[in-house]
Amino acid sequence: MKLRFLIPLLAPVFALAQPRYASGLDVAAMNKSVDPCVDFYQYACGNWIASNPLPGDRARWGRFTELSNHNEKVLLDILQGAAVVTAKRSALDAKIGDAFAACMDTATINKRGMEPIKPELDRINSMNSMPDMVDELARLHRVGIGVVFMFGARPDAKDSNRTIAALGQGGLSLPDREYYLKSDPKSVEIRHHFVDHVKKMFQLAGDTAESAAAKAQMVLALETTLAKDSMDRVSMRDPNKTYHMMSMREVAALTPGFDWSLYLAATGAPKFDTLNVSQPDYFKQIAADLAGEPIESWRAYFSYHLLRATASALPESFENESFDFWSRYMTGTKEQRPRSARCVGVVDRQLGDLLGQKYIELTFGADAKKQITQLVDALEKAMGEDIRTLDWMTEDTKKAALAKLKAITNNVGSPQKWREYSKVKIARDDFFGNGMRSAQAAYEQRIEKIGKPTDKTEWGMTTPTVNAFYSPQNNTINFPAGILQPPFFDPKRDIALNFGGAGMVIGHEMTHGFDDQGRKFDGDGNLRDWWTAKDGAEFEKRAACIANEYSGFTAVDDVKLNGRLTLGENSADNGGLRIALMALEDTLKGKGETLDGFTPEQRLFLGFGQIWCENTAPQEVRARAMTDPHSPGRYRVNGTVQNMPEFQKAFSCKAGQPMVSQNACRVW
Ligand SMILES: [Zn+2]
Repeated sequence: MKLRFLIPLLAPVFALAQPRYASGLDVAAMNKSVDPCVDFYQYACGNWIASNPLPGDRARWGRFTELSNHNEKVLLDILQGAAVVTAKRSALDAKIGDAFAACMDTATINKRGMEPIKPELDRINSMNSMPDMVDELARLHRVGIGVVFMFGARPDAKDSNRTIAALGQGGLSLPDREYYLKSDPKSVEIRHHFVDHVKKMFQLAGDTAESAAAKAQMVLALETTLAKDSMDRVSMRDPNKTYHMMSMREVAALTPGFDWSLYLAATGAPKFDTLNVSQPDYFKQIAADLAGEPIESWRAYFSYHLLRATASALPESFENESFDFWSRYMTGTKEQRPRSARCVGVVDRQLGDLLGQKYIELTFGADAKKQITQLVDALEKAMGEDIRTLDWMTEDTKKAALAKLKAITNNVGSPQKWREYSKVKIARDDFFGNGMRSAQAAYEQRIEKIGKPTDKTEWGMTTPTVNAFYSPQNNTINFPAGILQPPFFDPKRDIALNFGGAGMVIGHEMTHGFDDQGRKFDGDGNLRDWWTAKDGAEFEKRAACIANEYSGFTAVDDVKLNGRLTLGENSADNGGLRIALMALEDTLKGKGETLDGFTPEQRLFLGFGQIWCENTAPQEVRARAMTDPHSPGRYRVNGTVQNMPEFQKAFSCKAGQPMVSQNACRVW
């Protein structure tokens, strides 16, 4: 086989010195002194982990962030070019270029000081009654600030072709309700620091120390009530627990004292008869608990959320204070990312589909799209085979599962239709206003969908994003161009690595259609039980095995993973890797060769292991253990391979070794 070389990702210097390998496998990332049967993650990633310490401006650094750093450089190039004012500049370039320039112009931002936010704060501080509060709540929602609760549009879970209005809990600053409720020393410390941070934000906005301290206490107290009344994260993963169709009359009966007609009129939402309330108990409880809340508390709470959401568009001191608490203290990040990098992120959020159009022109060829599509087909075939040969599922349920699999739509590269931004006015000297106007346009575009047929081609991610997703209601798997690059995919390297990287990601997304959440939706994206009772029970038994396995893993210090919170992702990793291997075997048909001293199966497992190499600050690991449905990289790798006899065979592992689970779990 001809010598092929790895296209190095930009970043680390050592990558440039990397020798070239026949398969494209990143042998330099491995630590071969570790026994793969003892700790496969260290074996696959050990040298990468040692050679890539956490950069000062990151809480987590892994192959995903390495690639998004690379994408960010491409985007920065696009935006710096577009920001130069010339007579020939296209309308699209002018829009993204000016949005970027406005973000970079810290001199103007500092010079304007509090002037742009003043009318907003004045309105909040002049609230004097419940109707004022309701009106302001709607105003904040319109500019994307999710105080108290969420109101929006989403497909009806039981009739996915129609988009309905939806209400759900929300309004917390800290990452999860538990942060407000737990009494261990660490949680108490976090709340103490939070109050101190809120106080500092009010002082920056002009309050005296005394008044700022009082307001900070009001914010914590109000949010603690919201937290206490909130549904926990694990319950929220059950789509049956969050499905409650109600009329507005019923909602009003739950929440006496709250004027819904005033609120809805102020949001500009189209008229509707019924809506879904994800957590009726939350609404009932907060209406009772906050009925007598003094208007000063609402003023403090709304003001803080506004200051927090707009900190990057205010004088530098606000952004520094926000960074100090939210990043330095909460995630362990030591320094801010360069302004230019943050501004790339801002344009991606404000005008994502305009930037995406420019990005995909440069980065994603027809050849890559064709190869990825072939990979998706191979994975789909393997998943079908997997379902057909399961020993625990009866024929009727298999038939329904295969029908669902067949109904999955695959989207590769970018959405079919780009979002339109004609209503978003961008001004080069008004960074604050750009943020408010783009958020408002996004809100209006969402809210207008209430009562309309669902557009199932919509994406929830921008094209340069290094990620992928499954949408249960659209029954689509979606792979933005941003992720379809090394180390996930490279059309020029060994296919075993592509099956272990991108192939596993595709298998992972497909399996989401059949995880503890996805299995509750049918092929049309409707919440409907298509399982026989016996098969459902068999599924739950196997899923419980995975939940128990991952609950045994330690995230950091005394913090364990929550196997129920991470169940969907862990099931998808386990299923995804198995069907990626099946697809590889089916493609090679026994003709695979050994490259770099590794069999095709070994290369697939290494390709998989190496997409999860990472370093993470302990503060970030702790926060994620409570909030992130994904397990940390090392458990995504070791937790998965230890369940697989195929892995143990590939590396000749023996019973009793750590990567050979005594009680191997398998759902798919
Ligand atoms: Zn996933």
